[in-house]
Amino acid sequence: MEEKTTLLFSSNTHGPEARVTGTQSIAVVDRVSKIYGQSENQLIALNDVSLSIESGRSIALVGRSGSGKSTLLNLLGAVDRPTTGTIKIDGTDLSKMTDAQLAIFRRRRLGFVFQSFHLVPSLTVFDNVAVPWTLDRAMTSDRKIQIHQLLDRLGVADKAHRYPDELSGGQQQRIAIARAVVHRPALLLADEPTGNLDAHTGRVILDLLDEMRREFGITLVMATHSQEAAERCDQRITLSDGRIFE
Ligand code: ADP
Repeated sequence: MEEKTTLLFSSNTHGPEARVTGTQSIAVVDRVSKIYGQSENQLIALNDVSLSIESGRSIALVGRSGSGKSTLLNLLGAVDRPTTGTIKIDGTDLSKMTDAQLAIFRRRRLGFVFQSFHLVPSLTVFDNVAVPWTLDRAMTSDRKIQIHQLLDRLGVADKAHRYPDELSGGQQQRIAIARAVVHRPALLLADEPTGNLDAHTGRVILDLLDEMRREFGITLVMATHSQEAAERCDQRITLSDGRIFE
């Protein structure tokens, strides 16, 4: 698994997408469609979508409800597989991986931030942030220090031994950001990260996301209905009826 990932990763720097764009693409979506249901109940959620996302950039996915934003985010997050087409993340062709390999890839190379935080209620703040490493049985004393430093950076150092239901929405989203970036993922996927927050807290969360992303050199793809959040990104991609709308 490790060897395969490394091998595929190294091909990225010399791959066709690198030659075409002259920059390194962290994600390449090639003619991807996603169809739900069978025969007359078929629904085309994504229709022949191609895009290339440059490393280190922030991308907003915008478009009306039902336009395919979450579907695209789920495919980039290796949570679901396309019906046709291929997706490469960090040089790895997701279609060539088994479900077990995808699960490992998700927790090592990707980070997720959701509208409703999705923290584990039975774990303390510290243990929630530690999840990417504890699942991998990769916790070390250095990493424990890193988690405390990150909680400090995000302004929630004093919450390390609290549980999620003892925290405000804004505090929970800070913890979710810590969990999403602690392992320095190649790609951070955010689905309406400010959707459950008031305007002021939403701005603070966008600031922190931006700060973490820049500091750690992480590429961000964020689905959002917020015009303000979309305008802060380097690039906006509009979806309409499952297609990219230029
Ligand atoms: P958005 O995130 O832009 O609101 P989605 O990606 O959630 O859009 O949905 C795109 C389309 O796919 C919608 O018509 C939605 O109803 C449909 N869809 C999404 N997920 C499923 C599913 N699991 N089964 C059937 N249809 C789905």
